[in-house]
Amino acid sequence: MEKLGKWVEQSKNIVLFTGAGVSAESGIPTYRGRDGYWEKYDPDKYANIDYFFKDPSYYWNFFKEVRYPVLENAKPNIAHKSIAKLEKMGRIKSVITQNIDGLHREAGSENILELHGNTRMFSCIGCKAEFAMAEINDLLGQSLPPRCSHCGGTIRPQVVFFGETLDPDILKRARQDSFQSDLFIAAGSSLVVQPAASLPLIAKQNSAKLAIINIDPTPLDSMADIVLNISVSRVFSKIITGSDHLAH
Ligand code: NAD
Repeated sequence: MEKLGKWVEQSKNIVLFTGAGVSAESGIPTYRGRDGYWEKYDPDKYANIDYFFKDPSYYWNFFKEVRYPVLENAKPNIAHKSIAKLEKMGRIKSVITQNIDGLHREAGSENILELHGNTRMFSCIGCKAEFAMAEINDLLGQSLPPRCSHCGGTIRPQVVFFGETLDPDILKRARQDSFQSDLFIAAGSSLVVQPAASLPLIAKQNSAKLAIINIDPTPLDSMADIVLNISVSRVFSKIITGSDHLAH
């Protein structure tokens, strides 16, 4: 952790690449890793675009019962806040996240590339009208699946489902920032979901240092300059405050 702390101090173009593990300590379950499951609903269904078109009510039941209550209560943790603080200190080039929970923005990060979209925003597939969480909650009270209040069309979350491609502009910027980074920190990602998991390799190609923070091993550990099998909150509280306490 001390070595990583020194690298953070010396770097000016850090890319923070974050996955579900960063939000786990905000109470949002991960897909993989210990305790990583959404018990009742199958991610192969609620996170799959073909299934969404086949039966949107499966996604919306999952959203109403599981995701909405979790999101409503989730608050940024010390890792999100520390990353935002590092950005204000001018050390961070961008936060590239696989997370869809919006907690980096809530913590104060500004230069964020949300590779997989944001599950707090929604749009009508027909007329493209946009809806925020509170409006969706109202519409869900009226019908399930919710219907667009303008045209009656199907509403979807602004996330990238499995089976869809990433926004090409966001992916291009993520690749550029990774290539230009001097330190690439992959935190709380299983590093198996592509193309996101290729970003650390792009950074390494251009001689960035690669640090991986994950309580479990990842397939890219052998390529990393530092691997910390420690919770992200503990690492960031140490790096930012210098105190090695377990923060939640
Ligand atoms: P993942 O669920 O595949 O992996 C999470 C990783 O974090 C695991 O390797 C786990 O061991 C590790 N981890 C768990 N708690 C940790 C902690 N406190 N400190 C350090 N590491 C910890 O997540 P992924 O790699 O981000 O990919 C999953 C996909 O699921 C992404 O596409 C993402 O969009 C989506 N997802 C998002 C959220 C969210 O927005 N919070 C939650 C679940 C899944």
